[in-house]
Amino acid sequence: MRKEEIMEAYLDRYDLIVVYIHEQFYQGKSDTFRLRDANGNVQNLMIKSIERSSRAYSKYKLSVPQDIKIGEEYTIIIDYALQCPLRFGYVVRTKQFDDEFYYDGNDLGATYAATKTSFALWAPTATRAKVEIKQNDVEITQEMKRTDKGVYRAEVQGDFDGASYVYLVKVNGVWAEAVDPYAKSCNANKQRGFILNPKRTTMDLHNADLPRIESYTDIVVYETHVRDFTKQFPHPNAGKFLGLTLEGFKTPNGHEAGFDYLKSLGITHLQLQPVNDYTSVDELNIDPYYNWGYDPGHYNCPEGSYAMDPNDPYSRVNELKIAISKLHKAGIRVILDVVYNHMQSQLNSDFEKIVPNYYFRLSENGRPSNGSFCGNDFDSTRLMARKFIVDSIAMWMNDYGVDGFRFDLMGILDVETMNQIHKTAKNINPNVFLHGEGWNMPTILPDELKATLSNQGKLEGIGQFNDFFREHVKGKSSEHEIMVKGFCTGDINYIHAIPACMSGCVMNKPGFVRIFDSPEKSTNYVECHDNGTVWDKMKVCNSGEDNATRIQRQKMMLGIILLSQGVPFIHSGQEFCRTKNGVQNSYASSDLINRIDWDRKDKYDLVVDYTKDMIQLRKRLAALRMRTQEEIEKHAQFTIIDNRLIEYTLKNVAAYGEYEEIKIYVNATKDVITHSLKDMYEVLANGNGLVTETTFVDQLEISPLSITVLAKKGLN
Ligand code: CA
Repeated sequence: MRKEEIMEAYLDRYDLIVVYIHEQFYQGKSDTFRLRDANGNVQNLMIKSIERSSRAYSKYKLSVPQDIKIGEEYTIIIDYALQCPLRFGYVVRTKQFDDEFYYDGNDLGATYAATKTSFALWAPTATRAKVEIKQNDVEITQEMKRTDKGVYRAEVQGDFDGASYVYLVKVNGVWAEAVDPYAKSCNANKQRGFILNPKRTTMDLHNADLPRIESYTDIVVYETHVRDFTKQFPHPNAGKFLGLTLEGFKTPNGHEAGFDYLKSLGITHLQLQPVNDYTSVDELNIDPYYNWGYDPGHYNCPEGSYAMDPNDPYSRVNELKIAISKLHKAGIRVILDVVYNHMQSQLNSDFEKIVPNYYFRLSENGRPSNGSFCGNDFDSTRLMARKFIVDSIAMWMNDYGVDGFRFDLMGILDVETMNQIHKTAKNINPNVFLHGEGWNMPTILPDELKATLSNQGKLEGIGQFNDFFREHVKGKSSEHEIMVKGFCTGDINYIHAIPACMSGCVMNKPGFVRIFDSPEKSTNYVECHDNGTVWDKMKVCNSGEDNATRIQRQKMMLGIILLSQGVPFIHSGQEFCRTKNGVQNSYASSDLINRIDWDRKDKYDLVVDYTKDMIQLRKRLAALRMRTQEEIEKHAQFTIIDNRLIEYTLKNVAAYGEYEEIKIYVNATKDVITHSLKDMYEVLANGNGLVTETTFVDQLEISPLSITVLAKKGLN
């Protein structure tokens, strides 16, 4: 409420009007309230209650006439001198509002044809709406017509290929300018949307070339950031969408860098930190700014700072498509990190301008829910907010051929929304991979509705980041617990948690922590963009150790990630000991902190080679990629020997490939551990990586801080 206003009136429910009157300005009688409609018809309103607040405002609750229509203009009158418009307040948050106005059509946004462009905007509380189109120097403003379900429509004759547009909506007596949330491209810093001619953005995305995904456990995810990945390259496309697929770049020692390296690594999925429009980088003056991009400005349009020309309608769209197409051609699928849980600002968002108070979660008394700790939470439970998210996912899949999504703070979204996303996405592409951060955040939503870890059973086919794995394998992630070690960083006491981690946290057996009902749901990781890197943590918590020891630890963590049941996830550069110079939250740090330092790939090439070897081994041994809890419970066996050596046996696995039995030994101590075997086993890998010469042993010497993988064939 604005303080200078003497009187404000809101329709808060279908049966409740609330009027606030500033008594300092109005000290007359306020016992007769009347409602006047746009045609001048006046009727009296009944006062249900009066609350005189300790502040200067008094609150009157009034009855509502049966025939009130949302989307029409009304005035509340006290006497001839005092009146105000009736605003559509929290009525938009009622179920009845959704029942009345939910629109399930697939034509929202601008639809281009060579002779006309059609516009459809869902804005039930707007009393008028216009579309304003600019093409070169020509500007056209056309009134939109209100149609069923509060959808405003216009058809504008002419060829508007590449023209920009905004909507002007009159809501609660005030005109606001908004960019179409369904616009597929925007100009620099999202001042306006663009009308796209689909013919000019069509290209072969090479989805059909990709192999079928039999199980999500066959996936190896590699996370990077568009700008970080190639910022170091001396090339005009460095740090851009087009940079992702730059070929021929080398490290100082002549090893592969960038796209060539990505292809050589063996990963199956490249996960990109947000590529949709965010607000923190000035698209016309990029260099002074850096951001990860978790401050969405527009969900359906690629970020302009990654485009060669942010003011060209097709640049950002086509360049992202070119990158995805080329990745697909190289056999690499693309996962987008999507931030539907909050936006940069509720007030500045186009959603809020178009239908105030509808799209963001609010408390009973109207305070913004802030489970995201970013000032607002998108309210996925509202039907049109949910529809927007589902439509947006479908758009990224249909238009860009995107293969998967990582849901930032998924726990703020609700179970039903996630399940609808899953259903829609699977229909578009059965190979789609969905996972998210299922942390239980303090958003205003009952716990049983949140898409969290504890509700994983309600989320069919949706994976989640396994923080149990992360915190036990690596140690604590937060800055203030940087000294708290995990199994691989020196606290051997965590040895008893590692069998649960390595079995994907699905085993329903004594001594195992069970988090998921399927290994396909467990995203196993120790490092991602959040928090400091493992390498930086070890510099602090293992500060007394030399580089060689820390390298062993780094390799061991990568080995455990890649040999565990579940879905392995690697943060780019982790495999060459990425550092951010100790910065624990580099979301807005400089390029120097965030960019991938390809020089390190030379320095830590042994870790890179080891990572490639473990990816190869994982691909070779299907028993490491079991698909169900039942299989893992049937075949996986763990023994902890002398409280210092893990023996992980996969028994009777002939059906999975060439071996009857596989044994993985993890030695996280600084001692050589000897171990006698009851039979002869082939050594597949040791602390250095794959063993290329066929070697059989019945006596093991496991070097410090290392993993040994053995296998045995059946009798025939
Ligand atoms: Ca932007």
